[in-house]
Amino acid sequence: MSVWQRVLGLARTVIEGVVFDEELESIVVSVRPRKRSRQRCGRCGRRAPWYDRGEGRRRWRALDVGALRCWLEADAPRVSCPEHGPTVTQVPWARHGAGHTHAFDDQVAWLATHTSKSAVCELMRVAWRTVGSIITRVVADGRAAHDPFDGLVRIGIDEISYKRGHRYLMVVVDHDSGRLVWAAAGHDRATLGRFFELVGEERCARIRLVSADAAEWIGETVADRCPNATLCLDGFHIVAWATDALDIVRRQTWNDARRSGQPGQAAQLKGCRYALWRNNADLTGRQMLKLAWIAKHNARLYRAYLLKEELRACFAVKGEAGIAILHAWLRWTARCRIPPFVTLGKRIRKNLAGIEAALRNNLSNALVESTNTKLRLLTRIAFGFRSPEALIALALLDRGGYCPPLPGRP
Ligand SMILES: [Zn+2]
Repeated sequence: MSVWQRVLGLARTVIEGVVFDEELESIVVSVRPRKRSRQRCGRCGRRAPWYDRGEGRRRWRALDVGALRCWLEADAPRVSCPEHGPTVTQVPWARHGAGHTHAFDDQVAWLATHTSKSAVCELMRVAWRTVGSIITRVVADGRAAHDPFDGLVRIGIDEISYKRGHRYLMVVVDHDSGRLVWAAAGHDRATLGRFFELVGEERCARIRLVSADAAEWIGETVADRCPNATLCLDGFHIVAWATDALDIVRRQTWNDARRSGQPGQAAQLKGCRYALWRNNADLTGRQMLKLAWIAKHNARLYRAYLLKEELRACFAVKGEAGIAILHAWLRWTARCRIPPFVTLGKRIRKNLAGIEAALRNNLSNALVESTNTKLRLLTRIAFGFRSPEALIALALLDRGGYCPPLPGRP
């Protein structure tokens, strides 16, 4: 193997010559595939008869050599593939249709998940949209090599907003591998249906647990597509319902105090929002004092607060003990005479099977939430990609386990 072959990390390739191009201020390396790698269809890799010279010689960007840009140059003839018709031949150094070598693609993909947008563009001397198309093809390759839908048993479904909350991505994670399995633009029945379509009937039948929020269309789609799966309603979303109910009670109490001419009371209540919102264990000293003030001056609001905390306790305790607390909580709400919590009790009762399943199987969307936190970060990085596809590719690259190692590293 020649020094140049090693420097460029080229396999199955013959180096014909190396020149310095004054005009481009670049190194240009003439190459050709080894004999056994020649005359193969660029799309399927099968040997095929010669068709024509194509568009003659073409160039691929390779990794810089020292401080200099480097290009590979080779003929790009076409073969007549029985399946794909006249197609440019496969080359060992680059993906079909790509203008960059494998090593270049891999380094860009690695950098995109490990450093900032401007650093990737500056270092690799490429535009951000080129980064988008590179990671899209790296992920497509990875997914073609290993089917991401094999062996799914416990999955989580969630949504994440991007473009300042106007658009949604639907995401599916594998609870067992911890990986992001799939993401698509949209958040509705049809989008979720497309996911199960890709997974296929046979593999859908092997899915046992699905965690999701309580949207009816998710429940119905899962029941329809995964005959052996139990739906687990995510505790995070259920507790959020209780927080909403509590906020309604707080606003009512505040309005009542204002209207009945108790401005002092009203002002105090206005500042209580965060003390009521937060988990009890996370309260600051000041917030605890606020809570003590509520307990003393407004028994009804304090009861609403306790109801919220008790519902949260179900998900902290989990298992049969958590379910027992949940049932006691339901009896409590039934006679609490605080309308928003009476309504919440009814809503929980309606979704009881899914909530009990979540407690029994200890399955929550916590993994999805942590994925979403990372995705939100990526959304900011990916700002400037024109399509959600590039954002999805970046998400899969990072959270789906498709990020390649740096070129030449094990
Ligand atoms: Zn072909």
